[in-house]
Amino acid sequence: MTSPFFYIIFSLMITSAALSVIFFIAWSNFGRPAHALSWSLAFLAGAVQWAVTLNSDAFPTEEAYLVAEHAFGIAMITLILQGHCQRTFRACAPRLLMPAAITVFALACWYILVDPHEGMHHAIVPAFAAITLFASAFVIVSFRERPRPSEWAAAICIALVGLAQAVSAWIAMLLGPLGDEALHSAYMHFTFMSLPAGYLAMSAFIILMMASDMSAKMKQLAIRDQLTGLLNRRGFTDYGEKAFASARRTGTSLSVIMADIDRFKYINDKFGHAAGDAALAHFAAQISEGRRAEDIVARVGGEEFALLLPGTELRDALAIADQLCDRIGATPMEMTAVGLPMTSSFGVATISEKDRELDDIVRRADRALYRSKRAGRNQVDLESSQLMLTADGTLKPVEST
Ligand code: GH3
Ligand code: MG
Ligand code: MG
Repeated sequence: MTSPFFYIIFSLMITSAALSVIFFIAWSNFGRPAHALSWSLAFLAGAVQWAVTLNSDAFPTEEAYLVAEHAFGIAMITLILQGHCQRTFRACAPRLLMPAAITVFALACWYILVDPHEGMHHAIVPAFAAITLFASAFVIVSFRERPRPSEWAAAICIALVGLAQAVSAWIAMLLGPLGDEALHSAYMHFTFMSLPAGYLAMSAFIILMMASDMSAKMKQLAIRDQLTGLLNRRGFTDYGEKAFASARRTGTSLSVIMADIDRFKYINDKFGHAAGDAALAHFAAQISEGRRAEDIVARVGGEEFALLLPGTELRDALAIADQLCDRIGATPMEMTAVGLPMTSSFGVATISEKDRELDDIVRRADRALYRSKRAGRNQVDLESSQLMLTADGTLKPVEST
């Protein structure tokens, strides 16, 4: 009767080949991320490794078979870690991984060919796998401040597979130089009991992680304006609503500045649509410069922009808008030899007791912007009903109508 290990190794070979195809399709369909290709190659190396194991009789010597099996096993392990490093943009990875893999392979060859040692040559691949899997788990969770649930799940699963590989390596080490039949059987049973589940769970979680990467990318595309890189109207509303809710909850202030480029149609008509696009990007850069991390800057329409400033009183928002108005007017776009002058009008409003949603403030800022336009453009206004001049000459917001 065929050994049960044959069936397990056969299924590992087929599973690896299928996973290699899955990651290859993911690579070619999801914008060709390098990490997906690394994982496809990793599982291809895995499939070849198991094919070698199944065909050990085809090798001229036992040593030749062991060297080939170790080569593909080490390649697979290295490529998996490389994929995780590529996904998280660790530039140093290839420089470290290649020498590490070659060293481990040289060590394996030593214990197979030069100084045969049953325990060592069985332990090398699982020990290297354990180290690289722990490193992969670390790379995943240390990538961002708050890892996503799919990343925690993948990292925990990968660390568990790493733990199983560490146990395999430990049992293998107990085999000693000459080996021991009972221990060898324990090693085989433990390894082939843990590997299929480990392969499947680990790759399923990696695929889940890739799906969540895709979904985050789609979300970014949905809320970002491609031309200026700023948030679009949807992004402004998404983040703005949260900032509004937080300001209501904590009783802190929140101001909105609406901006609209003056006579933008003229720029388009005189210099062409491409110049108009460049002017929009120039304007976006000008109003984003120097903003705090918590400020929200968005392109909410064709040549209309919005700034949402948490914790900012009306008076400070007014000063910021004045500053922006001056900066825009004083910084012509470098397009023609003399530079293309540009001005913009601004409207400012701040949160009031009566506001129920962000749109209430935005509407007031929009009305103020309209007043700036009517008053001759290139200036800042705030809704008059919001402004009260106190005895000491400072501005004080009053409740809006
Ligand atoms: P005002 O001072 O009253 O704001 O005048 P304006 O010309 O800026 O305003 P108007 O609303 O008449 O024109 C806005 C123009 O912005 C019209 C539209 O063709 C142009 N526009 C909107 N989106 C884009 C864009 O993505 N690229 C370019 N190049 N032009 C755009
Ligand atoms: Mg305009
Ligand atoms: Mg407009």
